[in-house]
Amino acid sequence: MTQDELRALIRTVPDFPAKGIQFRDITTLLNHGAGLNATIAHLADMARASGAEAIAGMEARGFIFGAAVAVQLGLGFVPVRKPGKLPVETIGIDYALEYGSDRLEIDPSLIADGQRVAIVDDLIATGGTALAAAELLRTAGADVGHALFVIDLPDLGGADRLRAADLSVEALIQFE
Ligand code: 5GP
Repeated sequence: MTQDELRALIRTVPDFPAKGIQFRDITTLLNHGAGLNATIAHLADMARASGAEAIAGMEARGFIFGAAVAVQLGLGFVPVRKPGKLPVETIGIDYALEYGSDRLEIDPSLIADGQRVAIVDDLIATGGTALAAAELLRTAGADVGHALFVIDLPDLGGADRLRAADLSVEALIQFE
């Protein structure tokens, strides 16, 4: 499938989760067998080319795409979780949102020192989530050089922020 065909499988929902926001809903893509398969194949090609030794994905949509990419490449998956979910000792990072803040946590024992880890998520907007995940994984000893997304919203500048933090950024689909 072409990137335009994949793009057409994303549903745009106006005024969600707040008025004025155009939410790019990937559930319609997930529900399309050929579209989902092609999306995972593209992401897996990018992850393979990055030399990744493990895939990390952010809760919750990053779990779907990230785990599927890991399976495709025969790699392990590192869940980057919302606070209080992991049953072991964690390391965490607080990061700013447009309104308020949020927190991500990982189990650092899942990362081998110097292991090349690629980040996978559904969408990059401001880049805050992916930057926080990269910092957390790096704190645990990972070599994080690549962040891969289904969708980029380039007007929000997230990819540029990630590049400034030494991350190579790739996305399958752009929405202005
Ligand atoms: P950022 O931290 O880059 O500003 O926002 C990206 C994070 O918020 C991702 O984890 C993504 O799942 C979620 N997100 C923000 N806006 C959207 C959207 O329009 N559609 C989807 N599917 N996720 C979004």
